[in-house]
Amino acid sequence: MRLKSVELSGFKSFAKKTPLSFESSITAVVGPNGSGKSNIAESFRFALGEQSMKSMRGKRGEDLIWNGSAQVPRGGRASVKLVFDNRDRSLSLDFDEVSIERVVHRDGGNDYLLNGSSVRLRDIAELLAGANIGASGHHIISQGEADRILSAGVRERREMIEDALGLTAFLYKREEAERKLQKSADNMKEVEALRRELAPHLKFLNSQVKKIEEAQSLREELKDRYLEYLKRESVYLKFAEATLGGEQEAPEGEHKELDARIVHLREELGRKRGGDHETQELIRLEQEGRTAAHRRQEIMRELGRIEGSIAAHEAYVPQEGTIPVAEARQFGEKVLSELELPFNDTNNFQQRVQALIILTADFLRRITQGSERKGESVTELASKKDSLEAELRGLEAAELQAVSAIAALRLAIESEKDASRDAERELFAAMARRSELESRLSQLRARAELLNRDRESLVRNLAEAAALVGREIADYESHPLEETNAEAAEEDRARQAERARRIERLKIKLEESGLGSSSDVLREHQETTERDAFLGRELADLEASRVSLMHLIEELTKTLEVRFGEGIEKINKEFDAFFKLMFGGGAASLQIVREKKARRGASEEPFGEEEPQDGDSETEQGIDLTVSLPHKRLKGIHMLSGGERALTSIALIFAMSQVNPPPFLILDETEAALDEANSRRYGDMIETLSKRSQLIVITHNRETMSRAGILYGITMGSDGASKLLSVKFEEAVAVAK
Ligand code: ATP
Repeated sequence: MRLKSVELSGFKSFAKKTPLSFESSITAVVGPNGSGKSNIAESFRFALGEQSMKSMRGKRGEDLIWNGSAQVPRGGRASVKLVFDNRDRSLSLDFDEVSIERVVHRDGGNDYLLNGSSVRLRDIAELLAGANIGASGHHIISQGEADRILSAGVRERREMIEDALGLTAFLYKREEAERKLQKSADNMKEVEALRRELAPHLKFLNSQVKKIEEAQSLREELKDRYLEYLKRESVYLKFAEATLGGEQEAPEGEHKELDARIVHLREELGRKRGGDHETQELIRLEQEGRTAAHRRQEIMRELGRIEGSIAAHEAYVPQEGTIPVAEARQFGEKVLSELELPFNDTNNFQQRVQALIILTADFLRRITQGSERKGESVTELASKKDSLEAELRGLEAAELQAVSAIAALRLAIESEKDASRDAERELFAAMARRSELESRLSQLRARAELLNRDRESLVRNLAEAAALVGREIADYESHPLEETNAEAAEEDRARQAERARRIERLKIKLEESGLGSSSDVLREHQETTERDAFLGRELADLEASRVSLMHLIEELTKTLEVRFGEGIEKINKEFDAFFKLMFGGGAASLQIVREKKARRGASEEPFGEEEPQDGDSETEQGIDLTVSLPHKRLKGIHMLSGGERALTSIALIFAMSQVNPPPFLILDETEAALDEANSRRYGDMIETLSKRSQLIVITHNRETMSRAGILYGITMGSDGASKLLSVKFEEAVAVAK
């Protein structure tokens, strides 16, 4: 890689665009004091990304912009563009020519452009580090800065050497890895916190899910039990209903027939009881009979009297109120004998009373005959007796007829009563049978009622089961039983009742598990588990990347240490050689020392946990320097004179450049303090260096100028702006002074 040119526009005293090309391996910039030469060295720093304003002799970005003069107005921006020949691809960009440009604006804003495209400072720094142009600017030695490397602290010195050794790229890588490590540690903390946050919820969900699973298995068991229960219940009910139907058929039919029969019998009986007129006829006939008997008795009495009168007329002398004793005794004996005879029936009684009446009437008539028979003749009596006897015969005939009519009527009434009794008997039998049937039927109805209730409860159970274990329970009919349906229907109902109890117990258990919206819980559990697993993977990834980053850091550290160690060794060799050359003897060397690490901020600690800190991690490497001058017993750089310091630092700078040559080296009046002899040695050394690095030397030194291939003269006109002109050596010598 070669530096082709630099172009300054509005940068510091370079008000106008000023290009400088570097075709020679040594370019000298000469000019009077204050003409702007150092501004050129600073323009390199600027373009390469220098962040320290101090090292560019400014306070703010604005100080880098042409500030104007009476003739030329101030600029709004300053820019410096470096152009490199990149045919060897030292810069890892696939371009033969690479331009790096930086612009600063009055507001302090900066732009970085790589081949005209805006990039980040970091991109520039990394690109340059890869080509051994580090940020420490060890390849730009500003005016008066030659001994910076001597005055620097061990740590700063180490950084400069690392930079010079081209270890910056590794350092960048390590820093990057450390940043990433820090970031992944932060991420891990974050992820771990998230996981910790999730843990109790996940634990809760896990226990919920366990409960759900238990409930699920309870539900499964409940479902199986329901299936069996419902199937058995259905089989039982079908059989029981069919059996009951069969049992009801016959009694129902009979009951219906009995109903009809009872209605019929009742009607019939009703008709029979309607025959009361026959009884009334009987009463009437008996009344007539009684009237006729009465009349007959009257007639008999009259006839007795008439017959007595007639006999008195014919056999007795009328004798008032007297009868013979014999006759009276005869009468008494007759009455007595009549009365002493037993009475058999009513007829006999009547007849005998009749006879007694006649006897008594005849006796009385004979006693009273004389006076009573005065008016009537026997003839009259006889005719009266005849008519009465005729009437008596009529009456007897009528009586006889009535008696037979009554007997017939009584017979008829009796037979009718018999017929009614039969019907009544049948009616009672039918009613008895019917009530027997009714009690049978009511038993059957009670059974039917029970079956109905069982059927309703089956329906209820089914609905409940569907709600608890799912709709598929409706297919319980296809659930297989161990035995045939007929056998199942015969089973003792107590066993089915036991099943129902088991189901109830399971339902209670299920209810106690109290999981309503289990699908929500399951979904949340799945999501949470997935999230936790995701975080777990994330953590594992982070851990893996942490491990690999630590390995990388370790490796880089090792590489750095090795290279640094090797580099120091090489530098020491060169340093000692240059030193001897400069001082004509003596010795110089660098030593790696360990010194306490500058404390890092707590936030920078990769892991806040108590990580055991070994001795190494508390200290860091630094570089110390020892010199011993020839013929002098002095040791230690603080004892050196100004010129000696300059020589020492030049020797070190050159040694460093020799070991790992930078593409270019800018030396701003580095040799200012050297005497003529040393200036010559210096000239020799830059020629040696220029074989491996392009040199841009800002100088007032004739010797140095004489080694340059190209000489640029810088002057400052009356307008306050620096101007560039190519000059010949002799002119340069003149200009420089
Ligand atoms: P010497 O040989 O004495 O070291 P030099 O040639 O290196 O001098 P410089 O230090 O590069 O000179 O230039 C300093 C000049 O640049 C000063 O005159 C200063 O006024 C001028 N200068 C610095 N910054 C600006 C700026 N922002 N605008 C205009 N002029 C500036």
